[in-house]
Order: sequence, then structure tokens, then C-alpha cells
Amino acid sequence: MGFKIQGKRYKIQGGGVQGSPGLPHHHTLYLSPCIFPLLFVPCPPMNLKALIIDEADHCVKCGLCLPRCPTYVKNRNEADSPRGRIALMQGLAQGHLADSPALRRHLDGCLGCRACEAACPSTVAYGRLLDAGRALLDADVAAQAPRPETRLLMRPRQTRRWLRLYQLSGLQRLARTLGLPGRLGMGRQERYLTPLPPRRLKRSFYPARGRERGRVALFTGCAGWIFEQPPLAAAVRLLTSLGFAVHVPPDQQCCGALHLHRGDLGRARALAEANGRCFNSLGVDAVVYLASGCGLTLGEYTELHRLTGGAPLAWRAPVEEICGFLARQDWPEARIRPTEASVLLHEPCSLKQIRNGCKGVQALLAKVPGLHAQALANNGPCCGAAGDYMFREPAMADALLADQIARLREAAPTTLLTTNTGCALHLRRGIREAGLAVTVRHPVEVVKIRTEC
Ligand code: SF4
Ligand code: SF4
Repeated sequence: MGFKIQGKRYKIQGGGVQGSPGLPHHHTLYLSPCIFPLLFVPCPPMNLKALIIDEADHCVKCGLCLPRCPTYVKNRNEADSPRGRIALMQGLAQGHLADSPALRRHLDGCLGCRACEAACPSTVAYGRLLDAGRALLDADVAAQAPRPETRLLMRPRQTRRWLRLYQLSGLQRLARTLGLPGRLGMGRQERYLTPLPPRRLKRSFYPARGRERGRVALFTGCAGWIFEQPPLAAAVRLLTSLGFAVHVPPDQQCCGALHLHRGDLGRARALAEANGRCFNSLGVDAVVYLASGCGLTLGEYTELHRLTGGAPLAWRAPVEEICGFLARQDWPEARIRPTEASVLLHEPCSLKQIRNGCKGVQALLAKVPGLHAQALANNGPCCGAAGDYMFREPAMADALLADQIARLREAAPTTLLTTNTGCALHLRRGIREAGLAVTVRHPVEVVKIRTEC
């Protein structure tokens, strides 16, 4: 199916929307996966080259970010450092460098952890620069099939049902025995699959327990919906017992981080529009999320137009990390049981990018009398999860994971807390394969266990 708008050709293909082959990227129309309302988001021409040149100009090549870059620390190659990657993107945008497999390898090797951004005295917006660079390289990305795990994540409810059936029917054991996942090219993904507990969130609205003090909406995340039902349920229980009614809108979408960081700006924008429409219509006091990776992307929707063009997106309610939100509320102290337990705290890169993210988690854990929460030693470098990086770049992802596992082996905790779903999956896999007895949880689960609610 195709049509013309203002003399330009557009094409929509069945089962979704594809960029019309041969059309420039900005002539593609994207169809929101939201069924109602159907939302067409034209992706206007955006001068990505100008954006890259402008942003890269802020880099004074001081190199202060280099020691903070996990890939540079591992490879000791300037092209695998933030400064080197900025120079590559600058050269590409200025036309001094041609697209090449080597150039792509260095950019693909970037985790997008943005540790460099935090270290940069010139405030180079490296994350946005990288997204623009990838979009420039992959102008036809909208016409390509998404990675297999992205396709599964885009339908979290169906995927969860199929995975439960796969596990409960014994098919998983059989498939593993026969080596089928590997033969189907999903061997690595399969290693991340731990037994899924039953679905806990079954309703789209949970009333406050007792007097209502406010209303919030819960962003569940796509991987979060599949793998993190217990912490999602714990969050709802804590919120309702503190007097908040909780909406869990079933038509919410993936935050779009995977698409954005792959350079698929059109789909990222369409997902952001759909989520804005979904959550803004609820009239809540806050939108809360558990996965800090999703939260970082949700919080930056308001900046998305700098990459995609179009009007700026706006949230009608603040978007807040769940731990910080809960920590700010009045808690009836008597309802939290003291403990002498110790937990280790893993601070995901995304949490560090969120204002007061780490402080919010610490403040929530401090509500539990006697709980000893200590940050994992040398928590700085990325664990290697980084969205789909753990599948795309297995060698570096595993090298970084091995460092975290070595620290865990030394610290020997029984519980490790992390706020990001991808990190939790990656760390759980490493812990299981290393034979360590460490349980990985979201902080809200620990607080819920100690709370009478
Ligand atoms: S985002 Fe992370 S991996 Fe990429 S250049 Fe910056 S510090 Fe290095
Ligand atoms: S710290 Fe900032 S200015 Fe210095 S090299 Fe890194 S990105 Fe460039």
C-alpha cells in the first residue's frame, strides 16, 4: 500500500510499516504498534550531519573520559575510546571518512553506557551523538528486520505466555538436550532464560489501600513484564499500601531504547508518541518505572525531537524512578520489620544518569532498620548488558561480566540488588554459570519483604 503526501511517495507494508525501499529515511511513515488510536508519525528530515558536527565540536580532545570508558580500558585502542569514536563520527559527518566495516565495528563496540558523558568537562552529549551517528550509518534501518530478541520483546505479553509454555511443557529441557537453540541461532539468548514465575500483575488498575493520597501509573517495560513480575508486583503492593492507586495500562509500549540506540529514530519516536498518549490520558500524579534503562529513555522523550525532528514531546506528570518515589513518601515506621541482613548494591549505568537515581535507592533501603546495604566494589564500569549489547557483542559483554563476577566472588554476598532488568538478566546468567549462590533482586522486593503490607 502506498500513497503520496506533498508530492513525496510513502509505502506501508503488511504486518507493520516498512520504509519504502529506495526512499530516503525521512520519507518513511511509521505506524504505532498501539492499536487505538492508530498514530502516524512522519519523521521529518533531520540534519543529522549538522547535529553531529555541532556536538562533536564541543569535544576538546582532552582525554579525561578515556579512563572511564570500559571498552578503551579493555582494548587500549583510541578508536574504541569516546574521543576516538567522536572523531570517527565527526569525520563521517564531514565527509572525510567513508562508511566502512572497521568504522562500524568501533561504533558498534560502544556500550552506550555514557560513563564518558559524566566525566566530560565540556559536557559533550555523547549519548545523543552516538544515536545520531548510528542513525546516519543506518539510514535504511527501518526497512531492516529487528534483531530476534527485539521482536520478542515488542510483544511481551505473548512472549511471556510462550516462554512459560516452553518451560512448563518440558520443551526447554528437550531443546537444550538436542542443542536446538544454538542451531536456530538463539543459543546465547537461551542462556539468559531462567524459570519464569507465574504472572503476578493481572489487572490494569489497583485501588489504594485505605485513604487514597494520589494516583500513579506504572511503566512495566517489555523485558520487565516478561522477567520481573515479582518486583513489579512488590512495587504495586508498596504503592497501594502507602495510599496510591496504581494504573498498569495494558496498551503501554516498549520505551523505544533498543530502537533509538540502533539508529531507528522513526520507530523510537512512534513508541514515544504512543506512550505519551497512553500515560498522559490517565491524569495521574506520576509515572513510575522500575527498570532504570527504560526510565532514562522515558525521561529523555522531551529531548527526542533534537534527533527525530517534529514537535517536542511533553509528559503531563513527572516520570520517576520507583525507589526515589517511594523513599519520598511518609512511611508508617512500625510497619517495616528490622533485619540484620546485608545486601550488595549494583548501580547500573542508567541509574547513574538519572538525577538522584542512586541516592533514591539508598534512601529507600535506609527505610529498613538494620539493613546493611553496601555498594558493589568498583561499581563504575558497565557490567556489559547495555540493552542488546550482551547479544550483539558477546566477547566484550562477557569480559565485562567476568570482572563483575570476580568482584562478587570476592564479596560473597547472598543478595545483589540492581534496578535495571538487562543488568539483572546478565548478572544472573554470569552468577549461575560461575556457580555462585547469589540472588539478584530489585530493591523494591527487599523492602516489600520487610514491610507489613
Ligand atoms: S558510552 Fe561507554 S563504551 Fe561508549 S565511549 Fe562512552 S564510556 Fe566508552
Ligand atoms: S572528556 Fe569530553 S572533551 Fe574530553 S575527550 Fe572526552 S568527550 Fe572530548
